[in-house]
Amino acid sequence: MSARVRKAIEVTGIVQGVGFRPYVYRLALQHNLAGFITNTAAGVSIEVEGPAEAVEDFVSQLPVEVPPLARITQWAASDIPARADGEFRILPSQPGENRRVLISPDVAICDDCLRELLDPSDRRFHYPFINCTNCGPRYTIVRDIPYDRARTSMAVFPMCADCQHEYDDPLDRRFHAQPNACWKCGPQVELWDGEGNRIEAAEPIAEAAVRLQAGYVVAVKGLGGFHLAVDATNPAAVSRLREGKRRVEKPFAIMAPSLKGVRSFCELSDASRGLLESPERPIVLLRKKSACLIAELVAPFNPEYGVFLPYTPLHFLLFAAGRFQALVMTSGNISEEPIAIDNSEAVARLHGIADFFLVHNRDVLLRCDDSVVRACQTVAPLCERRVAGHRPTLQFVRRSRGYVPVPVFLNQDLPPILAVGGELENTVCLTKGRHAFLSQHIGDLENLESYCFFETTISSFKRILEVEPQFLAYDLHPDYFSTRWALGQSSIKRIGVQHHHAHITSCMAENHLDGKVIGVALDGTGYGTDGAVWGGEVLLATYADFERIAHLDYVPMPGGAAAITEPWRMAVSYLQKHFGEAFLDLEIPFARELERRQVAVLVRMAERGVNSPLTSSCGRLFDAVSALAGIRKRVNYEAQAAIELEAAIAGEGEDAVYPFELRPEGSGWIIDTRPLFVALVNDLKCDVPAGIVSRRFHEGFVDVLARVVKLIHAKTNLQNICLSGGSFQNVFLLEHLKRKLEAEGLDVFTHSEVPCGDGGLSLGQALVAANRSP
Ligand SMILES: [Zn+2]
Ligand SMILES: [Zn+2]
Ligand SMILES: [Zn+2]
Repeated sequence: MSARVRKAIEVTGIVQGVGFRPYVYRLALQHNLAGFITNTAAGVSIEVEGPAEAVEDFVSQLPVEVPPLARITQWAASDIPARADGEFRILPSQPGENRRVLISPDVAICDDCLRELLDPSDRRFHYPFINCTNCGPRYTIVRDIPYDRARTSMAVFPMCADCQHEYDDPLDRRFHAQPNACWKCGPQVELWDGEGNRIEAAEPIAEAAVRLQAGYVVAVKGLGGFHLAVDATNPAAVSRLREGKRRVEKPFAIMAPSLKGVRSFCELSDASRGLLESPERPIVLLRKKSACLIAELVAPFNPEYGVFLPYTPLHFLLFAAGRFQALVMTSGNISEEPIAIDNSEAVARLHGIADFFLVHNRDVLLRCDDSVVRACQTVAPLCERRVAGHRPTLQFVRRSRGYVPVPVFLNQDLPPILAVGGELENTVCLTKGRHAFLSQHIGDLENLESYCFFETTISSFKRILEVEPQFLAYDLHPDYFSTRWALGQSSIKRIGVQHHHAHITSCMAENHLDGKVIGVALDGTGYGTDGAVWGGEVLLATYADFERIAHLDYVPMPGGAAAITEPWRMAVSYLQKHFGEAFLDLEIPFARELERRQVAVLVRMAERGVNSPLTSSCGRLFDAVSALAGIRKRVNYEAQAAIELEAAIAGEGEDAVYPFELRPEGSGWIIDTRPLFVALVNDLKCDVPAGIVSRRFHEGFVDVLARVVKLIHAKTNLQNICLSGGSFQNVFLLEHLKRKLEAEGLDVFTHSEVPCGDGGLSLGQALVAANRSP
């Protein structure tokens, strides 16, 4: 028989409110151990005592089968003297002790709760708010910390005796499940008409399903706010929703009842399936199948659908009642405003768009949009390297519900910093030690509602994370609302960060890189240190500093912002730059179709520099090629021309690619687009199809980027290459460039923890500020 020993174990991470204590309690009982577990400031503290062998077993099993929502970031076990206490106990947490623990994100209903939901003999049969410690709302119902019921929007629902019993029983799945509720004591659903009047209905969800089947628009209150729902197979209903939302062509997300349903209209890889079914339940971008029942208008001209599976009990009940192929489930807002969360706010703001409102009385305290991701074959994320094989590989387009507020784990300690992000796709970032907390998607700050959301997110983030920032990091663009806000905070030290530098450092941070890297930062718009609009940049970067070593040649953006919504302007600007005014006589369809007088004005503007800022933007180059190839001359949403250009790529394995020239300048290079446009125009003269043009362009661009990186590597001997910026949402660009550089023996790093686009900018800003602050 082995000797009696005692061990103390400290666990940090997401280990409170996620069923961790009952898990440890059960494990200790299994091994017949004495001791205790209690919540501490940083996580949980465990002591176990028993025969040495049993204690060893316990310690080795502990991290293996943790509850699904738990995340251990650190743990340490040490030997302490045995003291022969009797049984294993869960000790109450002391007030104030758990103020520093991580709050879990909102997660999809678990299998156990789903089984109960659909079981007629269960007391929660068809109860739309069923949850347990393994599932349900968290972040969006938190008012303050510590995370307990009294500080959530569940405070107004006292538990009935049955629920309380579950809540108090360490062996129950609902032990300390703060949102625990049932038909008797919890929130309830109501159906309202378009004016906000309650409709008498025994089964409001079934009634809502009937209205959806009839083609009505129903606003459905979810976890992080309202969705606007319509039957995705009903073209008239989808069209009405587009008119109401004033959203012309930007794709709508669709929710399908099951994987089988998804397969009927999308290609589905194993990696994508893993993401669809993950507890975070993001919207996953999937390639469309050509023939399907989904209305054309759901995602016109787009090669992909954004698809997700039901994640709340209410969603499951809606599908059970309506037997829909798929529902459009788009954010409950107009255009780019933030999503509506409050019942009366929803009726006011969505009046005239939604015919009915499916509401409930559990308040959403923190607005949180759905996350959008893409399965990625070649990017092995950090989390996967940490926990081999545990999570599907992904690329974030938007990191929000299901992921926030899980921090990005850093390899350096940072002072408390608030980084306020960019202008579009805004997120903010608060740092605390080795944790960088990125906020949920805030959106485009140009409208007042988003700006208010930006301010409330900052204050609630500071409150629930208990961080009082010492430094503020902001983008150098003087007109960004986030920048103006930061500059208005005069009581705190502020640090301006160049846009593309922040992109590269965000990539360095999530990959735990140190020292100097070669950074390829490609996007649409970022304010340069020379006042020009940068976006096709190759940098030598450390956390503290950067040097711009190569970039796309400057070209005017005639009309400024108008050149972003009208890609044909960029095509004119490039043609004018490389062919002079004779471009009008080029024998290509684009030139023939131009309106001469309009062009004359444009050319004059560009020549005189009137409202025509110079740009090295990668996005604008893609726009110009898209317009010239006859794919898209005017866009209805961000990056549409580039997305359609990529989707058009055709004809693999041909050898012809468009050439670019690398022109030495100073200590670096200019990426000259003249040879590209000469070759492109020649192809257009010969009626080469758009798909081939697109492929030759993409491959040529990848070639020149790889060439310039190789030159820089030869000169500097730097081995780590970071790829960042919104243009890397282009899968062809990302994967081909990555492969090419890796074939040269270089180490290539991309994103898997935060978006490569401006949604990840705040993380990079925080790192720069931390490394520049005194
Ligand atoms: Zn559950
Ligand atoms: Zn109850
Ligand atoms: Zn950017």
